[in-house]
Order: sequence, then C-alpha cells, then structure tokens
Amino acid sequence: MELRKSDYETYDYREFWQDNKRQYEDYSERTAIRKLFAGFENKGVIADIGCGFGRLFNEYNDFNQVIMLDYSVNNLKNTMQSVKDFYLKNPSAGKPSNIYFIAADAENIPLKNEKLDIAISVRLMHHLNSTSGFINEASRILKKDSVFILEFANKKNLKNILKFIFGKTASSPFSPEPLYIGETIRNYHPKEILKEIQKSGLQVKRLISVSNFRMAFLKNRIRAGILNKAENTAQSIFSFLRLGPSIFIKASKPKEGNAYEGSDLSGISGIIMCPSCRNNESGFLITENGITCSKCSRRFKITDGIYDLRI
Ligand SMILES: [Zn+2]
Repeated sequence: MELRKSDYETYDYREFWQDNKRQYEDYSERTAIRKLFAGFENKGVIADIGCGFGRLFNEYNDFNQVIMLDYSVNNLKNTMQSVKDFYLKNPSAGKPSNIYFIAADAENIPLKNEKLDIAISVRLMHHLNSTSGFINEASRILKKDSVFILEFANKKNLKNILKFIFGKTASSPFSPEPLYIGETIRNYHPKEILKEIQKSGLQVKRLISVSNFRMAFLKNRIRAGILNKAENTAQSIFSFLRLGPSIFIKASKPKEGNAYEGSDLSGISGIIMCPSCRNNESGFLITENGITCSKCSRRFKITDGIYDLRI
C-alpha cells in the first residue's frame, strides 16, 4: 500500500497539539531531544526534516543556520508564524543568522552533500513510503562527525505486545514488516530501522524509549506533572527494552581523518541542491520569485519566503 504523501495542505496540523491534549507527548519528546543534544557544542547548521508547524523550533533557535523543511507549504507558512510568535514572546532569545523554509520531499532532499551539523526528524518517518530512501538522504547531507536524531513510531511497544498476547489483535508486534495504522501511518520494528541506519553509513550512539505512558487511562487519571516526572525516569530505565510507542535514535556520521571543514555557507545557494538533476555542484540563479538550476535549468518557485523545491 502506498502512503499518501501529505494531508497537511488541507489539515491544520496545529490542531493536533492544541489545548494541551498532547502536553505529555510534547514534554516527553522535548525531554528526549534535550538528552540527545546534551554535550553537542557545534551549533552550526541544523535541519528539521518534517518540521510540521515548527513546534520544536525553540529547541534549536541558538544554532547559526536553521533549515525548516516540510513537504507541506501550509505547514511551512505556520512554521513562519510559530517562529514570529516565539520571538514576540521571547525577544532576547538566541536568533540564527539565517532561517530557511524549504518545501521538499524527504526522500529526495534538495540539500548539498555534507552540509549539516545536525539533522533532526520527529514524527516524519511514519508518513514515508521508503524509510531507507529518507535515511540515506539524511546520511548524505550530514557532515562528518555530525549528529542525526531520528524519531519513529515503534510497532513493538508494550501496548501492542499486550494486545497480541491477550488475542486482541492478530498482527504480531514482533514481525519485521511495518504495521499500518489507517491509510497514512506506518509503525516500524526498531531492529529494521537500526539496520537501515547502519546500512546508510551512520553509527547508532543512543536509543531512548519515549512517551512510555501514552495510554488514555493513565493520561486521564494522573496529573500531568506526575506523569512527566515518571516519563523522565522511564526514559532512562526502559530504553534498553524499547517498549515505548515512540523511539528516538541518535546516530552519527563517522569522522574520517581529523580535518574539520567548518561551514562554508554562502547563503541559500551554498546549501541547496537541485532535486531534479541532483547535481551536487549545481548553482542557482535566484530572483525575487524564482530559482533556476544552472545545470538542468529547472525552475522552482519562491512564495512568501518559502523555497518550493518539490518536483
Ligand atoms: Zn538541476
């Protein structure tokens, strides 16, 4: 079954998070991200791939260059608004020298090889048709000695295991193939994702099991503050069991030699690659409302500050 590419042009993804309905998941994910960011000093270039409406922007607003990438232009417009709102509320917060908003396919990322210090992707993988396509692209655009933070929905979670044991479902959470949830979502076996990461040339450094108490009866009965504290502890204890519905992986691209190249970004044209000819040396002619590849002459739109690099 092919997954639909994106529903977010017609559905406002902000609704999914509003009214504190998912305060616990939001807290859980941020806690995991902060653990995985800890100790990482090189705040050069970060890309949030599948950034949604920019919910997590304030976790990396102190990077020098931030790339917010999503397939949905609607999501990117909302991301711009989230960024504006964040600086209205926090005028003295750290500000990147550049924030780019790029509409693109995560399985054909229009960024040049080895440009990123960090790639982060949360709640994207379950929408993709090919996990290996995306993971290989992420590996390609990461610099050496950089970090990849990848979240995916875990089919082998505690709730699914219990349902299977008690005969409430026939589909085994232990089998390697993805589990389909409706028409738009896939859950994965952690082993399969770890394999894909290793195949792409990245090395897995850490795994955190997240949203360990995402069960309606707990969320309804237990105060958010208590659940959050329990989650923080559970992330440390349960991660080796990989039983949470959401898994965060930290992987890194091995360093070869010890020369650090540094950022040689000369604006947007130093970062982006043409998704049509995929020539890493491609340059671009940029005008106010369009951008043209110097190699294949393909034209892309720039609308309200969003680079639309979809094919
Ligand atoms: Zn081109």
